[in-house]
Amino acid sequence: MAREDYYKLLGVERGASQEEIKKAYRRLARKYHPDVNPGDKSAEEKFKQIQEAFEVLGDTKKREVYDRYGTYSDNIADSANAGGGFGFGGFDFGGFSSGSFGDIFSELFGSRRTSTNATSNTTNQTQNFTNPQSQKGMDVECVLSISFEQAVQGFTTSISLSREEICSICNGNGDLGGALQDCNRCQATGKVITQTGKLQFKTPCSDCQGTGKRRLACNTCNGKATIPKTESVKVRIPAGVDTGSRVKVPAKGNAGKKGGQAGDLYIITNVGEHPYFTRKGDNIYCTIPVTVPEAAIGAKIEVPTISGKAVLRIPPGTQSGQKFRLREKGVPSLRGNICGDQYVEVRIVLPKIISEDTKNILKEYARLNPENPRTEMGLE
Ligand SMILES: [Zn+2]
Ligand SMILES: [Zn+2]
Repeated sequence: MAREDYYKLLGVERGASQEEIKKAYRRLARKYHPDVNPGDKSAEEKFKQIQEAFEVLGDTKKREVYDRYGTYSDNIADSANAGGGFGFGGFDFGGFSSGSFGDIFSELFGSRRTSTNATSNTTNQTQNFTNPQSQKGMDVECVLSISFEQAVQGFTTSISLSREEICSICNGNGDLGGALQDCNRCQATGKVITQTGKLQFKTPCSDCQGTGKRRLACNTCNGKATIPKTESVKVRIPAGVDTGSRVKVPAKGNAGKKGGQAGDLYIITNVGEHPYFTRKGDNIYCTIPVTVPEAAIGAKIEVPTISGKAVLRIPPGTQSGQKFRLREKGVPSLRGNICGDQYVEVRIVLPKIISEDTKNILKEYARLNPENPRTEMGLE
């Protein structure tokens, strides 16, 4: 296949910096990516070409060879892997020496890695430096059903969960040491073929981290370095959680591999209903029945709050549906030292007529108060 000049393909000068090459590649990869151009053969071909160009020019060593000889081939440069299927026309992620390809790719099209902040990035780099094969454990999520009161007041509990723990036989290494053997998965080539849509890529073999060699797997964990274990974990649910809140329990996710740190456990709370309270954010709502005399003359009544009973003063002439606020009787905010309010809605209930006397008193009441609340509507 006659190859177009890699520099031309990426649209950069021969003297371009690595940064310029990377930028040009990103721009073109976005433009020609098969996900963006479904079914477009020429875009797919173009995408393959710019991948190939970047694989070489993006790697200073390979670029040097290319600049000198006008060509670069893994078959020549990487003689140890000769015959390992490189005639296939795919491209590997150039990963073992620089790692740049895979990184950019995940940057561009969304990585499965969770985003980390600057601090933990630094930690990861240090870790990778000391043990390039160490892997952070996966985070674990579980849903915990809790009562309305538990959500408002917070509580501590123990939950039983299944998580991956470090295999104690191999100390989280996945193998038991000893002599290196050919890796079965990649037939000792260090690379495996993966399919993305219609494109095939060669990627580093994850079993042997691209080395082609590995030690005999630990047969207790089958080389996984971790074993499933059901464990009781003590968790503190802070006051103020709601349905869908995520409570983090550090390092109680799955164990890391080869010295990698453990993932975190996330407890997602599912808050139950209360017989007479409802909640919206940090505020609590309830409806309280009052009698006609209480609403008409005014009264001091007891109302329930999440922290016990409180006294509410009903002013004379209170209407049904009127709302009163009990300051800071709501839910403690997860965001700080503040608390929501409780709103009490008054609902006037009619007296049960239990005697002739009551009926007569109401008749008397009607005679003394000959008002018609419907006159505004033009009704008699
Ligand atoms: Zn093991
Ligand atoms: Zn392998």
